[in-house]
Amino acid sequence: MQGPLGGGTGPGLSPVDRWTLLICTVILAVTSGQMNFTGDQVLRVLAKNEKQLSLLRDLESLKPQKVDFWRGPARPSLPVDMRVPFAELHDVKDYLKSHGLAYSIMIKDIQVLLDEERDAMARSRRLERSTSSFSYSAYHTLEEIYSWMDSFVAEHSNLVSKVQIGNSFENRSILVLKFSTGGSNRRAIWIDTGIHSREWITQATGIWIANKIVSAYGKDHLMKKLLNSMDIFIEIVTNPDGFAFTHSMNRLWRKNKSSRPGIACIGVDLNRNWKTGFGGNGSNKNPCSETYRGPSPESEPEVAAIVNFITDHKNFKALISIHSYSQMIMFPYGHTVEPVPNHDELFTLAKDAVKALYKVHGIEYIFGSISTTLYLDVASGITVDWAYDNGIKYAFSFELRDTGQYGFLLPASQIIPTAQETWMAIRTIMKYTLNHPY
Ligand SMILES: [Zn+2]
Repeated sequence: MQGPLGGGTGPGLSPVDRWTLLICTVILAVTSGQMNFTGDQVLRVLAKNEKQLSLLRDLESLKPQKVDFWRGPARPSLPVDMRVPFAELHDVKDYLKSHGLAYSIMIKDIQVLLDEERDAMARSRRLERSTSSFSYSAYHTLEEIYSWMDSFVAEHSNLVSKVQIGNSFENRSILVLKFSTGGSNRRAIWIDTGIHSREWITQATGIWIANKIVSAYGKDHLMKKLLNSMDIFIEIVTNPDGFAFTHSMNRLWRKNKSSRPGIACIGVDLNRNWKTGFGGNGSNKNPCSETYRGPSPESEPEVAAIVNFITDHKNFKALISIHSYSQMIMFPYGHTVEPVPNHDELFTLAKDAVKALYKVHGIEYIFGSISTTLYLDVASGITVDWAYDNGIKYAFSFELRDTGQYGFLLPASQIIPTAQETWMAIRTIMKYTLNHPY
């Protein structure tokens, strides 16, 4: 048996090939200014038992880190997906083989998908310029989204306004769209997308849904009724610094961009920084980890802004926090296997939401509480647990498409279908919240 990743050579290429690839990689990286992922693969492992899962977890504790989990080790029935940099492929594959962990290759070369994504963005940008219209079926930069927000608010000022709830670590505005027909401090529903910056399908879905709410107000009896008594708030870019970084430098960046003196690694996992269960299992105290919880609860301005806003408002009744990927609808708790008092109610509602979603394009989701659906141990310091413990009884976390074929690099052609089906799940939860006041 070999220890976690001893030395190794390359992944089956001759020395000349490897040098050529390396040189090309460096040239590309220098010319575009962006990190290049040529030859990086996403491997999938189906762990058979807890022991195999812990062998996979050991991969994360290696320094420097050799793998980037896209779907972390959670429970034996769920696949583990990890991006392995080209230079580490040989060693990581050896490690898996030597421990009897069977793997398959989900994505053969990440850079190929990134190039396609970048080309598609360039094409849609040209089209948007020539038609002066915003394309809901394309991915956009932070500047494009913020400028869309301004025109969207201006065009629908009777229903939509923009609220700045804080500033990010790098001092970008943290913006929320408010949908309201009046009143003061009405019962409200919160939706956030993009707390993990690389989950691009979520911000794109948030944009489509904002637009859908406006059109539904005119046509959909339920939405009219809802907006006549409740408000909806959507935070589309919940991690603006991370999102800007996914465009400028590293498409696969997950955390925010905070830095602290004496700590070499950048960023905190904003979905581990909340007070409820902070520091428990399923969060990491190592600043270099992708699930680094931060030095203290709400240490990150992006989390503190939401906490302050929701706490001051006092009348939020539902919260939906949207992630990707793996096709799941889940509810608290994540930090403990203890069921919440209204577990059965949330279970039924999640089931109904999944059914409504399925009807749109036949996409299957799994559902349940976070600690029983996703993580066998637990995930601590997460948004929905905090929401639940702060009086928001209908708190849900979504994981959108897909199940791993593209992972975080879901092609833009899937934005609209994903948003359409997600909308029906959200609408189901909104309807229930409207009809079950508390
Ligand atoms: Zn996420």
